[in-house]
Amino acid sequence: MNILVINCGSSSIKYKLYDARQERELAGGLIERIGEAEGHTMHQVGGKKYERNNRIPDYDAGIAQIIDLLTSCGDPPPIETPADIAGGGHRVVHGGESFSDSVLVDDTVLAAIDQCSDLAPLHNPANLAGIRATMNVLAGKPQVAVFDTAYFQTMPPEAYHYAVPYAWYEKHRVRRYGFHGTSHKYVAGKAADLLGRAKPNLITLHLGNGCSMTCIRAGEAIDQSMGLTPLEGLVMGTRSGDLDAAIVFYMMSQGLSADDVRRGLEKESGLQGLSGVSRDLRDVMGAAGEGNARAALAIDVFAHRAKKYVGAYLAELGTCDAVVFTGGIGENSSDMRKGIVEGLAPLGIELDESLNAGRSREPLRISTDASKTAIWVIPTNEELMIARDTVRLIS
Ligand code: AMP
Repeated sequence: MNILVINCGSSSIKYKLYDARQERELAGGLIERIGEAEGHTMHQVGGKKYERNNRIPDYDAGIAQIIDLLTSCGDPPPIETPADIAGGGHRVVHGGESFSDSVLVDDTVLAAIDQCSDLAPLHNPANLAGIRATMNVLAGKPQVAVFDTAYFQTMPPEAYHYAVPYAWYEKHRVRRYGFHGTSHKYVAGKAADLLGRAKPNLITLHLGNGCSMTCIRAGEAIDQSMGLTPLEGLVMGTRSGDLDAAIVFYMMSQGLSADDVRRGLEKESGLQGLSGVSRDLRDVMGAAGEGNARAALAIDVFAHRAKKYVGAYLAELGTCDAVVFTGGIGENSSDMRKGIVEGLAPLGIELDESLNAGRSREPLRISTDASKTAIWVIPTNEELMIARDTVRLIS
């Protein structure tokens, strides 16, 4: 059963075609600069790369191009006709309080996703456009929406409420939602298998360009570091994470507009803002190694914030079966992993430095045998998770 997994950004479409029964990736690629004078497509199949530079006016044209590439590139191409695709799975960033699981798309679902656009103005309209385009191009094929927020709908009220006027929640849906749910759910499932426990207590860290942590009790998410939007929580590539909300008013009193402050916090903060070097941890670490003090500071603030959340989540859980690292940084930076869990041995979290230095594309245990809480590095696979949910719902 072939499933097309689609992840639409504001001017891009990331896609993968899966043989979902075998959990095998057949092809994939990225279309960028949709709506611009010239778009760019990079398609991969069977170890070969195919590139196209042509105008992609809208998402319908983008999806049509994907189908064309899937049916024409490769030796032989992975599918002969669009009819060989059983259905589409779509990443949707914000499901608000309406969705606690993935769903088959119908008109009611489309309207509900649209209603959440206020909460994720950059993402939900693009996600919606991608679903509609796929419905147009693959007419009659079932489509499934997989929400970044759904996994966190098990959070209890004391975790998801802000202590703000209650009417803000009732009238404006101001609460904590949590994001990166597909990734946290995937690695939590893998960790449960590896630990041989159906319902473990876990702390999962997704550390990439965006960074978030989830506190999981008996297999259910009970807290998450991201909030109303993906701005809250950990230090990220360009996002500030947690801050005193009064900074917003203070900076506005200093002459910045609301848009200036938003741009500052979303695009010019985090590793980028602190280091002044880059949003990419590799560059920041390189600069720190050459003596750049601000780069070193950015790394320290990043690790300090994550460590603080580990402590908070340990307090929520009482006992924790495993701490799990994933995402570009979590999977690749042994130094950052060390910085985060260093000093936590008295709390039962003890890193084995030589295991931590190892590299693997498979899950890797990096704690000592004596560590009460295991530490794992588990590569995430959000697209596979979306393909699995799609198969579950269309079968
Ligand atoms: P992601 O958003 O999950 O693709 O993660 C992207 C981020 O992972 C990049 O911006 C880098 O900061 C980080 N990253 C990837 N490889 C490494 C590495 N070997 N060492 C440190 N950071 C890395």
